Amino acid sequence: MTILFFEVLFRAGYEKTCARLLENPAKYSHIVFLSANKGTSILRAKRIPTTRWIRYSLLTVITGMVTYAALGFGKRSFEAWCPFGGMESLWGLYRAGEFSCATGPLNLSMLIGIIVLALVAKKAFCGWACPIGFLSELAGRLGKIIWRKRPSVPAKTNDWLKLLRYVALVLSLYFTYKMGELILRGYDPFFLIFSGFGHGSVGLTSVIVLIVLVVAAFIVPMFFCRYLCPMGATLDPFSRVGVLKVARNEKTCTKCNLCQKACPVDIAPQKTRVVRARDCTNCLECVEACPVKGALEVKAAL
Ligand code: SF4
Ligand code: SF4
Repeated sequence: MTILFFEVLFRAGYEKTCARLLENPAKYSHIVFLSANKGTSILRAKRIPTTRWIRYSLLTVITGMVTYAALGFGKRSFEAWCPFGGMESLWGLYRAGEFSCATGPLNLSMLIGIIVLALVAKKAFCGWACPIGFLSELAGRLGKIIWRKRPSVPAKTNDWLKLLRYVALVLSLYFTYKMGELILRGYDPFFLIFSGFGHGSVGLTSVIVLIVLVVAAFIVPMFFCRYLCPMGATLDPFSRVGVLKVARNEKTCTKCNLCQKACPVDIAPQKTRVVRARDCTNCLECVEACPVKGALEVKAAL
């Protein structure tokens, strides 16, 4: 909003006012665009990448559709749109030939579709369609504006913490298969947010869990997606072989590291020829951030 305000001010001919405000960076140090050159168009100096506009528009529509279903207006429950419900229903289908609890054929179809998508474009679902990924990314961006120097998680700790999502996957499947109930619903942010805490399995612990996850999302970008999402753990082996990958041209790359700084999940494209990391969502933030034309491109690669 503030960027837009300055752009309108500038275009309306109030260049001097813009320049005066820009001369006082200390006062406005929380606003990212103050590094822009005085007298240039603010939006041009700090433009929002086109792919992010497209991605965020798509994510807004999907999140709106899930909210619409959650408010009871849709034909199906919002839970029917959760692909992880497909994983949770597998054992019930195998043993009893029926879906567990609130899951149904749509969950299973979504699971299969998303696995096929991961084989083609890695975790594109997480970056282009998942409402929880979207909310996590927005929280991460807001956290960056509030705490410009956030603590960063050391690479080794980050790798160890990622193992937690496999624990989350095993626990959720174990309890669901054992009890025939989606027993971990009370700890699932997708369920807690979109149900408005509306189920018997939700209690004080659920509220505490959600508060911790929200605060963590501000400090460590994509906290839940990186460390706790069981759907992310399910997609990992498929994402590893996903055909469409970000590829770096070693001849033109200047090793400026801007691609890593732009990556919401802290992948370092500048250290590799092809991004094979299982966490890559093909969000294209790194491609947009790269100042050298053609140094980063999405290509089919094994
Ligand atoms: S942003 Fe582009 S030029 Fe800079 S390190 Fe990454 S790939 Fe290389
Ligand atoms: S490496 Fe690039 S495309 Fe992959 S998640 Fe990071 S910013 Fe997105």
